[in-house]
Amino acid sequence: MNRDKLIFERGAPDRRCVAFPAAVDSGTEIPETMRRDVPPGLPEVSELELVRHYTALSQMNFSIDTHFYPLGSCTMKYNPRVHEKAARIPQIAGLHPLSENAQPALQVIWEMEQVLKAVSGMDGFTFQPTAGAQGEFVGISLIAAYHKAQGNAKKVVLIPDSAHGTNPATAAICGYAVQAIKSTERGTVDVEDLKTHLTEDVAGLMLTNPNTFGVFEDEIEDIAALVHDVGGLLYYDGANLNAFLGQCRPGDMGFDVVHINLHKTFTTPHGGGGPGSGPVGVTKALLPFLPLPVVLKEGDTFKLDFDRPESIGKVSSFYGNFGMVIRALVYAKMLGAEGMRRTSEMAVLNANYIAAKLDPHYDRPKNAQPMHEMVFSASRQKRANGITATDIAKRLIDYGVHPPTIYFPLPNVAPETMLIEPTETESLEQVDDFIEAMIQIAKEAEENPDLLTEAPHATPVRRLDEATAARKPILRFKTNNP
Ligand SMILES: *Cc1c(COP(=O)(O)O)cnc(C)c1O
Repeated sequence: MNRDKLIFERGAPDRRCVAFPAAVDSGTEIPETMRRDVPPGLPEVSELELVRHYTALSQMNFSIDTHFYPLGSCTMKYNPRVHEKAARIPQIAGLHPLSENAQPALQVIWEMEQVLKAVSGMDGFTFQPTAGAQGEFVGISLIAAYHKAQGNAKKVVLIPDSAHGTNPATAAICGYAVQAIKSTERGTVDVEDLKTHLTEDVAGLMLTNPNTFGVFEDEIEDIAALVHDVGGLLYYDGANLNAFLGQCRPGDMGFDVVHINLHKTFTTPHGGGGPGSGPVGVTKALLPFLPLPVVLKEGDTFKLDFDRPESIGKVSSFYGNFGMVIRALVYAKMLGAEGMRRTSEMAVLNANYIAAKLDPHYDRPKNAQPMHEMVFSASRQKRANGITATDIAKRLIDYGVHPPTIYFPLPNVAPETMLIEPTETESLEQVDDFIEAMIQIAKEAEENPDLLTEAPHATPVRRLDEATAARKPILRFKTNNP
């Protein structure tokens, strides 16, 4: 018997494969107690059956390639296929990560840095963070390093109550106490409330703009001046940059540190946990603290600079998710400055069109005009028929739409929230279909609420008890064996 191969015993009654003989090298032998008693039940199937199996599985899921995905704050836009081509160029994809003098790769990073500097108004970037959340960690660590170098011990980070959960989590993990700032009726930062929190203890304010109500912080310059007056710095959570890409810049608004989610604004694929890229940009005063190494251009050549004594150090392996940087650079080069401006214009137009059409049918907790996304609430439907945001989200699946982000912003800020972001890559027809579905669902909520509370009806798996599914997951390997 060939001990290197898995051998199928053709025609054996239970069609199970023969077990491996004991490992050859006794030094690496698996202890007796840990070995399985029964051979693994591998199914014996043809290639065609296998292809059908995995294709069917892939179609049981939602994806941006198959369905509209208005997941607010996530900017689930189309990821152009040409990016994938570029990222797979063998000379780049096959580069050994230790080849530190790979000029084309360094050039890609350097050029993307120039793009991000231009759109953000920052003076330099690191591409190491592999997600927005890791970018926040780097950014707040940079702010901490800056204050420390100044000899200031600051203890507090201020964060609006509408912020993404990663903001307070980041500040806390960096050792800061978090204080929440209230939102106004319009959905913006309550500047009077902010003033009551401003002391010499404040290390910084983390802000998303437009915020997660989709509302532009139009008092941002005053806010920046107030925070700077007490020696604090401003952190820009760039998750919503798609709303004003190419139109205005966080640097000009007074932000000192930014992260940009390439996997959101710059169409590198995301979902399912990665791979992301959350480059962090800073103003001049914070450049010395950037993670190692930094890509520099000297004449016509590029190099990695490790000689930065004040750096916060290394935050991920090698240079972050380099493949994402290539994809983002291709996107930026295809669009150009004019294309980026048009992108954000269309994103805002699509969102405002939806907001205007759905306003008669759903409550909108904050009344300011939205930018690229808007928050609706199911509170009217809840009062009348006990219908929740979850019910509406589940019913949308039956209409072929991925549910929007729900219960964010959080229930203590606004009830039964549904955060809807269409992005610029959807057609008018698709946006109209979505609006029609939402109007239909509002009608169903009145006339036949059971349709909603029992939704989804058309999926391979019906509604889950999410709390139980999360707390007591049943994980099992399904075999065809008796
Ligand atoms: C997505 C998002 C983040 C976190 O970014 P990741 O890349 O998912 O880690 C932070 N803030 C806001 C507002 C977001 O939408």
